Amino acid sequence: MRNEYVPVIGLETHVELLTKTKIFCSCENRFGAEPNTLCCPVCMGLPGTLPSLNKKAVEYAVRAGLALGCKVATVSGFDRKNYFYPDLPKGYQITQHFTPICSGGSLETPEGAVRIARLHLEEDAGKLFHNREDATLIDFNRCGAPLVEIVTYPDITSPSQAADYISALRQVMLFCRVSDVKMNEGSLRIDANISLRRPGEPFGTKVEIKNINSIKFMEKALAYEIERQTALLESGGVVMTETRRFDEKSGKTEPMRTKESAEDYGYFPDPDLEPLLLSDEYIEGLRLTLPQMPEELKSRFISDYALSNEAASRLVDSPDIAELFLKSAAGLDNTAAGLAANLINSSPAEAVTVRPERLGRLAEMLNSEEITFTVAKTLLSELSSSDFDPAQAAKERNLTAIRGEELKKLAKEAVKASRKAVRAYLGGKKTAVMAVVGAVMKASGGRADAEKARELIIEIIENESGGDSDS
Ligand code: ADP
Ligand code: MG
Ligand code: ZN
Repeated sequence: MRNEYVPVIGLETHVELLTKTKIFCSCENRFGAEPNTLCCPVCMGLPGTLPSLNKKAVEYAVRAGLALGCKVATVSGFDRKNYFYPDLPKGYQITQHFTPICSGGSLETPEGAVRIARLHLEEDAGKLFHNREDATLIDFNRCGAPLVEIVTYPDITSPSQAADYISALRQVMLFCRVSDVKMNEGSLRIDANISLRRPGEPFGTKVEIKNINSIKFMEKALAYEIERQTALLESGGVVMTETRRFDEKSGKTEPMRTKESAEDYGYFPDPDLEPLLLSDEYIEGLRLTLPQMPEELKSRFISDYALSNEAASRLVDSPDIAELFLKSAAGLDNTAAGLAANLINSSPAEAVTVRPERLGRLAEMLNSEEITFTVAKTLLSELSSSDFDPAQAAKERNLTAIRGEELKKLAKEAVKASRKAVRAYLGGKKTAVMAVVGAVMKASGGRADAEKARELIIEIIENESGGDSDS
């Protein structure tokens, strides 16, 4: 058997923090403003200005670190990373090179834990636009936006595990409410490092793929690198340390530059900023404010409310949805809670705007079969634009479920009116019964329970045909 190469992957992720202002000045920290309108002498790096650290950015970094199981440093500091690039008017980036604020955490993925080496604070650079033939445009609004960079150990062993790690990381950042993690707006950007080796051999030379802004593209870029590096190694070549970029159109990575080493950046402690000192009380205080993380919540939903894995997973897509479910399910029994979950998952964007007690009430009404799911969805949709009492509305507008004799009557009429479907059903095409169910649903204006109607219809048809002596 051939001894195949296996990938070794480590990820560096930049996450923009949701603070109102930038990390070292009071300029607004906001995406999508008119270019170059959110800048001042400090974030433009004009001579004679002094940075002043945003406490909120520190708090968010600590929250993010704690949520990832990191140790928070009581003493850390800021350093200058010197380089020249048009998006960096100061000529250096303020980062935490020598002493990160957080270190040593981990994040679970289905394929195993990924250890986190460090999480540090830094400022973002501006944004360049290369979409014109004759010029490159620069927007300095992003200069000085607060970032945390989260660096893993090279523990990841496949592109799909890398994707699972990023999904998990996004969820954690979202649930601690430190970032909106919108990849299409650059709030989460990935540098992926990858090398190959044969099992048991020491790590090979890595290549870094810079600035990836989608999980799909990251998986493609890594898969392409596995192919490229395998071919290179098998033909007796060597992998060079370099920085590459992923081209979304060709699906290939291409060289960007040879990788800079730490010496190239001439790091030194920033003389303008004092050491960052955090007390144990401050750190422990923030630990107490941490919300439950998505994985925890998901298990809780499954164990406390007997939800399916699928329903529970969807409820932890966002912290707002998870919170809505918790509040609306408070006081409901498991069946009603399950119905609340189904209702939320059927239309999460609408559901988040509805008051939890209204949702809880809809779930109770579903549970006691006062209304059908179709009607519940209609009411939910209406509740998302204006608040009202759903029980009262159902009564007043005659939306309560059709049951018992009334439903039987509708079913009989539908059977009578759908002879073709009935014949097809009796001829062995069992799915033909759904046409009759459709007729009942239509006649009832969505107020009949489709499953009950189906059962009744089958009963009626079977009885009819059983009593019919010439068939
Ligand atoms: P550098 O000094 O080149 O930036 P670091 O040690 O800071 O390298 O690591 C940067 C990232 O690269 C980390 O996420 C780390 O896990 C990953 N990494 C390190 N060595 C390798 C390797 N041989 N193969 C793949 N990834 C690696
Ligand atoms: Mg590095
Ligand atoms: Zn500024």
